[in-house]
Amino acid sequence: MSAARRDELAANLAAVEGRITAACTSAGRARDEVQLVVVTKFFPRGDLDLLAGLGVTEIGENREQEAAAKLADGGTPAGVRTHFIGQLQSKKANAVARWADVVQSVDRSKLVNALARGAELAGRDLTLLVQVDLDPEPDGRRGGADPADVPALADEIAGSPLRLGGLMAVAPLDADPDAAFERLARLHERVLADHPDATMLSAGMSGDLEQAVRHGATHLRVGTAILGTRPSHR
Ligand SMILES: *Cc1c(COP(=O)(O)O)cnc(C)c1O
Repeated sequence: MSAARRDELAANLAAVEGRITAACTSAGRARDEVQLVVVTKFFPRGDLDLLAGLGVTEIGENREQEAAAKLADGGTPAGVRTHFIGQLQSKKANAVARWADVVQSVDRSKLVNALARGAELAGRDLTLLVQVDLDPEPDGRRGGADPADVPALADEIAGSPLRLGGLMAVAPLDADPDAAFERLARLHERVLADHPDATMLSAGMSGDLEQAVRHGATHLRVGTAILGTRPSHR
């Protein structure tokens, strides 16, 4: 079972690696400018260990309790950095700060304070990304700050004890990801002008990683293309 799963994950990782390499080549970018974050939500702890054994160094989870339960048993696999990518309630900030290295989904001021306190209590360093809502008609379902509010939120993180890593976004459903990622790239340039160290740009998933690489993504969050279809959808 585990050997078969290992082979399946290895084959899927190789296929995604091929797509990333091709996307970098056609965008005139170096492969090492782009990091793969493997999204393991809904999949068991055993898959994390298999992925770590296959050389994966970044994993993403979107629900605090699920992630904490997986990581409690044996801790984070050696050499792996953990990204929280889901919507976050401020009362969960302390819990996330105990295991996450990067919180990609910061979309309001209240979370910055809560995460700063959580990181201090846990004695850990935390990098935060501002999640941007790229939907022209925001409905709040996928989270993200209004683009107009992003520079102020970035300033606030930069002024906190935590590190401002950059920006994150999910392309809107039923819209051209190219146009959305282009808007994201322009907003990132604006933030970089004030915060030159905020170089991280997390964009692109299984279905649109090529468009994200074309528009400067430094981090791709890929789930389905590596782990398979999730057992259940929310
Ligand atoms: C689940 C999820 C992903 C991965 O999506 P796939 O289409 O399975 O690759 C990426 N980003 C976020 C924020 C997610 O919640």
